[in-house]
Amino acid sequence: MESSFNDLGLKTVINASGKMTVLGSSILSETVSNAIKDASQDYVNIEEFIRTAGSIIADHTGAEDGCPTNSASSGMTISVAALLAKKNLVEIESIPFINHTKNEFILQAGHDINFGADIKQTIRVGGGNVKLVGAVNEVQSSHIVENIDENTAGIIYVKSHHTTQKGMVSLEETIKISEEYNIPVIVDAAAEKDLTTYINMGADVVVYSGSKALEGPTSGFICGKKHIMEACREQYKGIGRLMKVSKEGIAGLIASLNQYENLSSNPQEQKQEMEKLSNKLNQLHGLSCEISKDEAGREIYRASIKVKNNCYYTASELSEKLQNGNPAIYLRNYYANTGQLFVDPRPLKEGQIDFIIDRFYELLNKS
Ligand SMILES: *Cc1c(COP(=O)(O)O)cnc(C)c1O
Repeated sequence: MESSFNDLGLKTVINASGKMTVLGSSILSETVSNAIKDASQDYVNIEEFIRTAGSIIADHTGAEDGCPTNSASSGMTISVAALLAKKNLVEIESIPFINHTKNEFILQAGHDINFGADIKQTIRVGGGNVKLVGAVNEVQSSHIVENIDENTAGIIYVKSHHTTQKGMVSLEETIKISEEYNIPVIVDAAAEKDLTTYINMGADVVVYSGSKALEGPTSGFICGKKHIMEACREQYKGIGRLMKVSKEGIAGLIASLNQYENLSSNPQEQKQEMEKLSNKLNQLHGLSCEISKDEAGREIYRASIKVKNNCYYTASELSEKLQNGNPAIYLRNYYANTGQLFVDPRPLKEGQIDFIIDRFYELLNKS
């Protein structure tokens, strides 16, 4: 099984894990990679390009305006900086320091996630101070309301499978509070598929990744209220420069947005593939396999592999053996410590399921 990375001495990677930054996020369609190639071979006025991208983002999200970024995390940082420094050049140049104390961002304790980096850091780099409210398994509206004071600059709401899925204040309720107290809400929707709902609900700012649900290149975007998006774009004269979005990234992002409606994912077909894999793996000693729906309720069906006590390897050992092989197979191993591994069908290429089955047989048939 060949990979263009083999020339550099790197192993072919079979990604059965998901859209993971650590594995190179997404692979691009012909259309998107051609758009990137074309952009890479011409000059453009970047400021105009960013503004044009902003209106294309607005068309796709229903927001007033938008701003392309190099990732969702930089989108968070730039949004925070924009709310604090606005379009004031001196303040833009002073971020992450700010000459007043109205820089606190309220974050529910169950939203205090690490997506590969700590979300609190993305807020601090933009000049924000994080005020965690409530407990990791329970936050009530009063936790938010009673923490609002003269220093509150905004509320950060994380819509993600990484957050605590129960006991949190809903986005609807958060937006209601924000409107009552006239405080903006930034929604981190990095990996979400739905590009319109949160804007539609009244969020001031929503941030997405370009390389997750959108299946685009390393990129991201911010959408929301016009005056905030103008301020976001201005941050490229300050902290945004450290995270500048490339012309290739913008071109790829636009092409990804334009193809998004027609992006065919076929959950039912993927489910059948996962059933085939499950049936095969169930014949192996020490494994018990079934189909499970995504824990955050998305339309994703994964094969859930329970590694039983009588298996020759533990789940963590098995995951490591698969990663150390060549090609390297990466399963979704968040729950390996509980004896469970998952196969995510979405990033798999043609023929790779059979390869995974073969590897399991090689590892477990002999034992
Ligand atoms: C992936 C993710 C991010 C970071 O996205 P990048 O585009 O990789 O910077 C931020 N927040 C959440 C909730 C994520 O899932």
